Amino acid sequence: MTVRVVVAGAVYDQGRLLAARRSAPPELAGRWELPGGKLEPGESPQQALVRELREELGVETEPGERIPGEWPLKPGLVLQVWTARVVSGEPRPLQDHDELRWLTRHELDTVDWLDQDRPAVAEAGRRLPDG
Ligand code: C5P
Repeated sequence: MTVRVVVAGAVYDQGRLLAARRSAPPELAGRWELPGGKLEPGESPQQALVRELREELGVETEPGERIPGEWPLKPGLVLQVWTARVVSGEPRPLQDHDELRWLTRHELDTVDWLDQDRPAVAEAGRRLPDG
């Protein structure tokens, strides 16, 4: 079976991490995630991340490093996470999400993350300042 990659962004700004609340599908609605989506054929993970963050949040971003690890979402689909920073625009929930929050390291546990995102969020949180 070909494994498809979903790439999500640990988007940082001023010592905070961006969290996005899903509005669909029903089984995921209300849960929080690192925004992203599936790689299209021929795309690198970084290209896919920049495209997805543009489509979903209306911002231009610059990808950084990959957060080590790979997490299964369902059979044939795995999650990879890259750091990113916003280079222009202000993130807005344009599709898939109905709320965004910037979280400090101490606020990371205040939202109900999707189970599959939790290890990546923990790893991403280690890159935030102690505040
Ligand atoms: O956003 P999109 O529908 O392309 O995402 C593909 C799949 O990856 C969905 O099932 C979504 O729930 C999942 N996903 C996830 N965690 C993320 C981003 C996407 O589980 N941070």
